[in-house]
Amino acid sequence: MNYVLYACQRCHKISAVAEGAPFHCWACQSTEGTMIENVSGTVESFTVLHVAPLHYLDDIPYGVATVLLNNQVRVVGRLSRFTDLDRVTIGTVVHISPDERYGLVLHPLDAR
Ligand SMILES: [Zn+2]
Repeated sequence: MNYVLYACQRCHKISAVAEGAPFHCWACQSTEGTMIENVSGTVESFTVLHVAPLHYLDDIPYGVATVLLNNQVRVVGRLSRFTDLDRVTIGTVVHISPDERYGLVLHPLDAR
């Protein structure tokens, strides 16, 4: 299943929505959203996880980061499995895409 990103028109939070499904903001319950593409932001903080739930054991170690978008909204996402975790820093620019398994996936533009 493909997912697309929506920005809530009321609170500006970002939601990943199954393609073709109606928008419903997870934060404020509004149904007024705008589909967005090419979402990017900068890493504010991140950590590398070495302990994970059973269904993610094969993925460790993996990174999770807080990202500040251009509209000042913060999102939490998972760093792409192709990321060189040693090269991620505060300020790394990431492109954000929705993913059925991981929610929001962060693709660093300068730390591959
Ligand atoms: Zn909202």
